[in-house]
Amino acid sequence: MLGLTIREVSAALREGRVSPTELCRKCLNRIRKTKHLNAYITVTEESAIKQAREAETRLLQGKPIGLLDGIPFAVKDNFCTKNVKTTCASRMLEGYVPPYNATVVQKLLDQGAVLVGKTNMDEFAMGAGSTDGAFGPVRNPWSYAAPYRESTGAVPESDWVITGGSSGGSAAAVASLTSFLSLGSDTGGSTRNPGALCGVVALKPTYGLLSRHGLIPLMNSMDVPGIVTRSASDAAIVLDVLQGLDPRDSTTIPAPPSTAQLPEDFDVRNICVGIPKEYHAPGLSQETAAQWRRVADLFEQAGARVEQVSLPHTQYSIVCYHVLCSADVASNMARFDGLQYGHHSAVDSSTEAMYATTRHEGFNDVVRGRILTGNYFLLKQNYERYFVKAQKVRRLIANDFRQVFSSGVDLLLAPTTLADAARHADFTREDNRTRSVQEDVFTQPANMAGLPAVSVPVALSMRGLPIGLQLVGPALQDQKLLSVAHWMEQRLGFPSFEERGGAAGESEEERGGQMRGSGDAR
Ligand code: GLN
Repeated sequence: MLGLTIREVSAALREGRVSPTELCRKCLNRIRKTKHLNAYITVTEESAIKQAREAETRLLQGKPIGLLDGIPFAVKDNFCTKNVKTTCASRMLEGYVPPYNATVVQKLLDQGAVLVGKTNMDEFAMGAGSTDGAFGPVRNPWSYAAPYRESTGAVPESDWVITGGSSGGSAAAVASLTSFLSLGSDTGGSTRNPGALCGVVALKPTYGLLSRHGLIPLMNSMDVPGIVTRSASDAAIVLDVLQGLDPRDSTTIPAPPSTAQLPEDFDVRNICVGIPKEYHAPGLSQETAAQWRRVADLFEQAGARVEQVSLPHTQYSIVCYHVLCSADVASNMARFDGLQYGHHSAVDSSTEAMYATTRHEGFNDVVRGRILTGNYFLLKQNYERYFVKAQKVRRLIANDFRQVFSSGVDLLLAPTTLADAARHADFTREDNRTRSVQEDVFTQPANMAGLPAVSVPVALSMRGLPIGLQLVGPALQDQKLLSVAHWMEQRLGFPSFEERGGAAGESEEERGGQMRGSGDAR
């Protein structure tokens, strides 16, 4: 039951093959069994059962609200949730309980979906591994699935792989079958990157299409709520519900006409697929490159036009992103002063001392580093040289896409990440800190340009770990991207997590204590 798509489980609920409370309990049980993944920071067991009961009443009366009524979902812990603590995986917000729901969370609840928990992440969404949160790293469910176990023998503590990040908990939650959909956030790739590494569909919508109200900001001009599901059709259902104007977010835009149902017979013969040549970047694994070619061939064989295109400013994207991101972080993090929210230091010899120690104790070194560099870029003597210049480069990057899409190319096909998931031990090696920064080379440009992009799982690597490719399209073509993603899914036959032995649901105990918990301090 837990491996079904939203559409399938919704039918099962309406036909009475399972009740919302049974389904909710199954998810909660599975969350317990997969605790070793550390995918959740908070499990909202009590309120979930209550919401499920309400859905049950509606279903029994034959009045479900829609396809999402009674469906369990999970939310990244940087979305505000009323009466449910919201930490951004930071000590700074430990114990913070928002008095309201983020718009996207509220919209899901209004559809009768059942919130089962808040997911783990990199602190304040800064990172690409989900290794940098205050509550310990997230483990990739595929680390415990049969193919990876076969390729590595067992899974010793040193050998498990990362989920990618920063929405690693949200991707792991859907991949490990503890929820049917989840929300992530995507500022530079944080939904697509873990989506690719965990073998799930991850949509970064057009900037402004989904409200950011209640999403704790990283970078206001690039943040978007991301949608994680097990299929493109499921993502379309969720997109249909979440998109559109929100009076509480002045950057939202009206939704184009859409439906929750993707066409079954999408004809790729009418489309032109661009292959950005600059994405043959250093560090791209041979296997990922081979999958990229394979899928491009697939489009070509089906009659699509496949063309090499150029996005000449791609190489500046990472540096440009980090200048702009740090600058936003420097101002966005200023609100965490020890008085308004969360952590308050015991040191109170002076106001300055209290601010300084609160922020030192509350933030990890990644966040502190970005605050420092951001303030540096914003210094009077540096502002033009770094910040303004980065804004200009951002425009050039956006123009690259505009040119390609105005030359008759409908969408781009590119890798999502450089390779399959790294071992945790390799990713976090002290001499390897830049790894996390390079990880976003293929994802950040779409955020710079505000464009929609969806990562689709396409194959398992030799190590038995998922490889994802992404489609990037012009603004507001989100649904078309999902239609093409659906077309790809039907032809690629990516193995389900269950099929590959991942649904065994081993807990620490069942595995003889081989895996220790992450030592988190919840
Ligand atoms: N890895 C990028 C960063 O650390 C992207 C983060 C994101 O998309 N939230 O900023």
